[in-house]
Amino acid sequence: MVAPETTTDAARTAECPPWCNGEHEPRRDRRIAHRSEGIIVPGVERVVHHEGDSLFSTVIEIAIGLEHIDDETWVWFGSDNPSRPPTVLSIESTRRLLRAVEALIRDRA
Ligand SMILES: [Zn+2]
Repeated sequence: MVAPETTTDAARTAECPPWCNGEHEPRRDRRIAHRSEGIIVPGVERVVHHEGDSLFSTVIEIAIGLEHIDDETWVWFGSDNPSRPPTVLSIESTRRLLRAVEALIRDRA
């Protein structure tokens, strides 16, 4: 038995990477950006109160995913705070960042 086709599957194109979620947001330049589903990582973030210099911790959700545009694949990192644009890094930059953070916290955390 074949599963019914979903709207997302119907939106996929021949150029879609296997991980593309099929949702292609319209762009003014008409280029197609393929995005994966986001992976949610729960986290705790330290922030500065907006009316002073007091620090507090808050629970956040960090979304990470892949984007492919113009024959290049990128990794995006977003928060659940809509006022913050996502950070988008190349695959190699993401690997360097992961190695650097691992080395930084390995013996110091
Ligand atoms: Zn796609």
